Amino acid sequence: MSSIDHPFLRNPDKALFIGGKWVDAIAGRRMDAINPADGHRIATLAEGDAADIDAAVAAARHALEQGPWPRFTPAERQGLLLRIADLLEARSESFAVLDTLDMGKPVRFTRGAIPLLVDLLRYFAGAARTIHGSTPQTSLPGMFAATVKEPVGVCGAIIPWNGPLWASVLKIGPVLATGCTLVLKPAEDASLAPLMFADLCAEAGVPPGVINVVTGLGPTAGAALAAHMDVDKMSFTGSDATGRRIVQASAGNLKRLSLELGGKSPHIIFADADLAAAAPAAAMAVFVNSGQVCSAGTRLFVERSIHDAFVEAVVAHAGALRFGDGLSADTDLGPVVSARQHARVLGYVEAGVAGGARLVSGGDRPAGDAFGQGFYVNPTVFCDVADDMRIAREEIFGPVLAIFPFDSEDEVVRRANDTPFGLGAGMWTRDVGRAHRVGGALKAGSVWVNCYNALDPAVPSGGYKASGWGREYGPNHLEEHLNVKSLWIQT
Ligand code: ADP
Repeated sequence: MSSIDHPFLRNPDKALFIGGKWVDAIAGRRMDAINPADGHRIATLAEGDAADIDAAVAAARHALEQGPWPRFTPAERQGLLLRIADLLEARSESFAVLDTLDMGKPVRFTRGAIPLLVDLLRYFAGAARTIHGSTPQTSLPGMFAATVKEPVGVCGAIIPWNGPLWASVLKIGPVLATGCTLVLKPAEDASLAPLMFADLCAEAGVPPGVINVVTGLGPTAGAALAAHMDVDKMSFTGSDATGRRIVQASAGNLKRLSLELGGKSPHIIFADADLAAAAPAAAMAVFVNSGQVCSAGTRLFVERSIHDAFVEAVVAHAGALRFGDGLSADTDLGPVVSARQHARVLGYVEAGVAGGARLVSGGDRPAGDAFGQGFYVNPTVFCDVADDMRIAREEIFGPVLAIFPFDSEDEVVRRANDTPFGLGAGMWTRDVGRAHRVGGALKAGSVWVNCYNALDPAVPSGGYKASGWGREYGPNHLEEHLNVKSLWIQT
C-alpha cells in the first residue's frame, strides 16, 4: 500500500454502502485500487457481486416506498441537494485530490471541474421545484383529465472511470431531485470518489437506502444490476460494446434505459477560422484527460489549404504539454487509467502504423524514469489516415488524434457523419451561414461552433445513433426519471 496521506484513505479498506451502512461484500472478496501514476495500490475495495446487488436493490426499494423519503416535499429535496452542493464545495480539494490519485487526471482538471459539479447540484436543487403535470382539455363530454409526474422508482447506474466524481454527481442529482432511489456501480478502476460522495450525501441528510454504492466488476455486479427485475430504470455511461450488453440484460423486465456510449467525434476546421484559437482547442479537444473523454474530438478534419500548417500547430501544442506529478498545479497530462487501457491505446497506435497511417508525433511512453511505472502515453497524432481505418472508426479512449484534409463543405459533412456514433461535433469558422448549415447537417447530440466541449447544467447532452439513448443535463434529464400518469375524472 503506498503511503499517501488523504483523509478518505486513512482507512484504506473500503466497504459497500447499502441501506445507509458500510458493509463488506457477502462473499468477502476484495480488489485493489491502483494509482495509475505509479502502479501502486492506494486502497482495497469490496468486490460486490449479484448477492450484494440484491441487497442494495432491496434497500433502495424499501427507501422508495417506506420510511421518510417518499414523504420528502420538493422543497425538502431541494434543501437536501443544496446542502450536498455546499458540502462538496467545502471539500472540493479533498475530492479533487482523490480523483487524481485514483484515475490519474491532473489535479488542475479535477479541481477545475468541481465548480461545475456544485453548480449542477444547485441546478438539480432548483429543478426539484419545477416538476409539474398538466391539465389537457379533453373532447369527451363531462371528462376532466390531468397528468401527474411520479418518480420512476428504483434506478441503477453504472459509470465509467474517466470522471468518477463527475459521473456520481450526474447520476445522483436527478435521482434526488425527482424522489427516486439509486444503486450506483462505479467502475472497478475508479471507485473511491463515488464512495466518498455517498458518505457526504448521508452526512447531508440523505435517508438510508436512497443512495447505495456497490463496488465490483462489470460482468458480475454490473451485469446483475442491469438484469435486476426490481430495478425500474438503468442509466449507463461507458463503451458501446458494454452498452449493448446492458440493453440485452435489461430486457427481462423491460426497464427504462438511458445510455451515453461515447463516440468518434468530428472536429472541423475551415480555412476562414481563427486558427490561433482553433489549434490549441483542437489539441485539447482530444488530449485533455489523456483522451479519456466521451466526446473527445478524435477525428480532426482540416481544410486542405491550411492542413499542413494546422497540423504543425497542433503538434507543437501537444509537444508543449507537461507530464508530471498529477498533484502539481502545472501538470497538463496524466496517465491513462490502467495497465489494460495503456496496452489498449498502444495497440491502436500499432494498428494505425500497420494500416499505413503516418505517425507524426507520440505513440509511445514519455521518456524518463518518473514515467516508467505509470500508464503514460505521449499525445499521438496521425496523418494520412484513411476513413475506414480502425483508428478512424473505433473509440480509442486515449490521447490519439487522426487528422484528415478535406476540400468542400458537402464532402466534410458526409465524412464527418460517416460513423456509427453521434455524441459531439465541433467546427471553427467565421461564416455564420456555414455555422448554421453545417451545424444543422451534423448528426450529433451537441455541436460546438468556435469552442469545444462546452457544458452547462441547463443544456442537454447525449447521443445520436450508437452514442446512446436519452439526454443528461437540462430538463430532459429530469424527465428520464419521471413517469407520467394520466388521471381521468368523470365529472
Ligand atoms: P471499459 O471496458 O473501457 O472499462 P466499459 O464500458 O466496459 O469500459 O466500462 C464502463 C462500466 O461498465 C464499468 O463500471 C464497468 O464495470 C461496467 N461493465 C463492464 N462490463 C459490464 C457488463 N457486462 N455489464 C454491466 N456493466 C459492465
